[in-house]
Amino acid sequence: MPAIRSLRLRLTLWYVLLLAIIIAAFSAGIYLTLRHNLYDGLDDSIRNRANVLLDIVRYEDGSPTLAGVVSSNDPNEGESFVRVFDASGRVTFDNSAAEGGAPIDQRSLERALAGETASRTVRLDDETFRVRTLTIQRDGQISGVLEVAESREDVSDTLRTLLLILAVAYPLTLAVASFGGFFLAGRALSPIDSLTRLARRISAEDLSQRLNLRLPDDEVGRLAQTFDEMIARLDEAFRRQREFTADASHELRTPLTAIKGQVEVALGKPRAVAPYREVLQVVNEEVDRMIRLVGSLLTLARADAGQIPIASEAINLPELVAAAVEQVHPAMDQRDVELHLEPGPAVTLRADEDLLLQLLLNLLDNAGKYTPSRGRVTVGWAVVDGQVELWVRDNGVGIAPEHLPHVFDRFYRVDKARSRAAGGAGLGLSICRWIAKAHGGSISVESALGEGTAFTVKLPVAARAAA
Ligand code: ADP
Repeated sequence: MPAIRSLRLRLTLWYVLLLAIIIAAFSAGIYLTLRHNLYDGLDDSIRNRANVLLDIVRYEDGSPTLAGVVSSNDPNEGESFVRVFDASGRVTFDNSAAEGGAPIDQRSLERALAGETASRTVRLDDETFRVRTLTIQRDGQISGVLEVAESREDVSDTLRTLLLILAVAYPLTLAVASFGGFFLAGRALSPIDSLTRLARRISAEDLSQRLNLRLPDDEVGRLAQTFDEMIARLDEAFRRQREFTADASHELRTPLTAIKGQVEVALGKPRAVAPYREVLQVVNEEVDRMIRLVGSLLTLARADAGQIPIASEAINLPELVAAAVEQVHPAMDQRDVELHLEPGPAVTLRADEDLLLQLLLNLLDNAGKYTPSRGRVTVGWAVVDGQVELWVRDNGVGIAPEHLPHVFDRFYRVDKARSRAAGGAGLGLSICRWIAKAHGGSISVESALGEGTAFTVKLPVAARAAA
């Protein structure tokens, strides 16, 4: 059988199949119980009638009979009959003539004469009778046999009618349930079809579309909502990607334009050696800037792709900070910025030494860049709640509150001209944030315009490489 490709049809079929089985079992249960009860009731009625008749049996020449007590014609017009035998098995009363004279069942008669009561079912003409054969006793002696019969036709009629009702109602119910089920399944699944159509329409270029289905908060509603949220995230990711590419190209074009300008001016006319040297110096600076920029871009691209292996080495934090301080000292001195180290406790971290050093150097470099001469930069650490808190503070220009949430974004620079003049492209802090996160830590900033800035890096003491 080919697989049914419509969930709606499959759901309906399963539902109808299940319903068919349940109704069939239910109907069979009703029919069999009723049948059993009705036949039991008939047997009870025969038994009661037999008891009544036993009480009114009279004797003629020592033989029991009902002649003169019960009508010898069937009073219920073919629905019952009574027969009496004497102790020798001879019929002394019989009103079964309406049934064409019921045949005598010798075996039941003999069993009754032996003192046994028996019931049997016989067919006469077109009718079925339930017959009870029992002993008549007189003074403790078996004096004859009483046979009482009642037609089963009433019971059969009732059962036949019930069967007819069930036979009509069964397919009718299933038909209604099929239509209903198909309709309901269609209603429940129609948003999924919309989802499929939309998903087909959406491409990477156009992620602005949303389902916007106003559905109740059920399974399908949540699916549609999740789908919308996923598209929104993809949209945002693609937007960032496009921006990143545009920003990167722009950043690369600036030094290239500067180089081109310098070279063209230099080539404009023959010059002495000194101007050429000057031009080459500028070109050299711009190339350095490009190398740094491309290096940062490469770091971020590889970080995004999870391609940077992060070592997990035991690092002596005081030594690492001292090394960083030593590296930036000359630059700070040059800018006339005082660099101050506030040593914390001896701590050993598990981290990637190169990356952690890069993070620290970035923060110290920024602090130096954005702190005017005679300013002060402090670096130190502490252990708080099982975490190492590493800070770099300065009393420099500070960051305005509206810029603060964005400083870790790629290419974000508060003051473009100033940052560029200082050699920055706005990537340093995003790399810092990646390094902190890759070690299972975080980085945060506090700043007040004109008062200074403090960056705090939190790292788990047993920092493991998380990426
Ligand atoms: P950049 O290479 O431009 O320094 P970063 O990502 O390192 O880029 O920093 C982003 C921006 O955050 C900088 O342009 C600067 O405006 C601001 N910033 C970073 N550190 C400091 C600081 N210590 N004081 C003031 N502003 C800072």
